[in-house]
Amino acid sequence: AKDAGRNAYRFFDEQMNRRAQEHMMLQNRLHQALYRAELQLHYQPQVNAADGRVTGVEALLRWRNPELGEVPPARFIPVAEDCGLIVPIGAWVIEQSCRQAQAWRQAGLPDLTLSVNLSALQFRRAGLIETIAGALERSGLPPQLLELELTESILLQDVENTLEAVRQLKAMGVRLSIDDFGTGYSSLSYLKRFAVDRLKIDQSFVRDISTDPDDAAIARAIIQLAHSLRLGIIAEGVETQEQLAFLREAGCSEVQGYLFSKPLPPAELEAFLRRR
Ligand code: C2E
Ligand code: CA
Ligand code: CA
Ligand code: CA
Repeated sequence: AKDAGRNAYRFFDEQMNRRAQEHMMLQNRLHQALYRAELQLHYQPQVNAADGRVTGVEALLRWRNPELGEVPPARFIPVAEDCGLIVPIGAWVIEQSCRQAQAWRQAGLPDLTLSVNLSALQFRRAGLIETIAGALERSGLPPQLLELELTESILLQDVENTLEAVRQLKAMGVRLSIDDFGTGYSSLSYLKRFAVDRLKIDQSFVRDISTDPDDAAIARAIIQLAHSLRLGIIAEGVETQEQLAFLREAGCSEVQGYLFSKPLPPAELEAFLRRR
C-alpha cells in the first residue's frame, strides 16, 4: 500500500510537471504569437430573436501556431492571463476589432455593435482607458457601438478602482455587458452600481433550456431581471430552434450561437452579412 501511495504520488508529480512544462511552452510561443501575426479575430453574429436581423458581432480570439496548430482560447487565455500577456494581446484585440468594425461601416454595412471580451487583469492594469480611447479615436468607430463584455468576478474585485474605470468608460459612451451571467458570484448590487447595459445568459443555462426545468427557470429569471432593470438581454450558445423558440417566448430579445453562425473570419462574416 505504501508503494502504491508512492507511485501514485510520483504519477501525480509527473503530471504536475508536465502541466507546468506545457504552461511554460505555451507562454513562450504566445510571446512570439503577437509579433508573428499568429493571432486572428473571428466574429460571431448577434441576432434579433424576433426578426433574425444581425445587430452586432462578438470578437473572439483565434491562435494558429505553425507547430501546435489551432490552440483553443480556453487553453491559451488562462496562460496569457497568468503571465500578463493578456494586456498587450487584449490591447491588440481592441485596436484590431475597432478598425474592422469601422471598415465594415465604411463599406456600407449597417451599424453593428462590436462586443469585445475583457479580462480582469486588463482592468487592474493602468492604461485600459487610454487603450480604448485611442482605439476609438484612431478607428473612428462611434463609442456607442463598442460593448465591453465583463465577467461578474471583474466587478467584484478591487471595487473602488473598477468603479472608477467603469465611470470613465461610461463617460466615453462605451457600453458594458455582463458575460456568463449567473455563473459567478450572485451579488446583484453591482448591476446598479456599475450602470451595466446588458446581461448575457451563459450557454450552460441555454443548453438544456427546453428540457431541464431548473435551467428554464434560471433563464426566465435572468430575462425578467433584465427587463425589470431596463437592461438589454442576450443569450449565447443557441444551437437549436427549440432553444430559440423558448428564449423568444420568454422575452429574450437577442441571441447568439451556432444556429445562426459560428464565429467567422472577417471576409466570411462580411459575406454572411451581405447574404442577409
Ligand atoms: P465566451 O466569451 O463565453 O464566448 C463564447 C464561446 O462559445 C466562444 O468560444 C464561442 O465560439 C462559443 N460558441 C458560440 N456559439 C456557440 C454555440 O452555439 N454552441 C457552443 N457550444 N459554443 C458556442 P471560444 O471562441 O472558444 O472562446 C472561449 C472563451 O475564451 C470565451 O468565452 C472568452 O471567455 C475567451 N475569449 C475569447 N476571445 C477572447 C478575447 O479576445 N479576450 C479575452 N479576454 N477572452 C477571450
Ligand atoms: Ca463573451
Ligand atoms: Ca460564456
Ligand atoms: Ca466567458
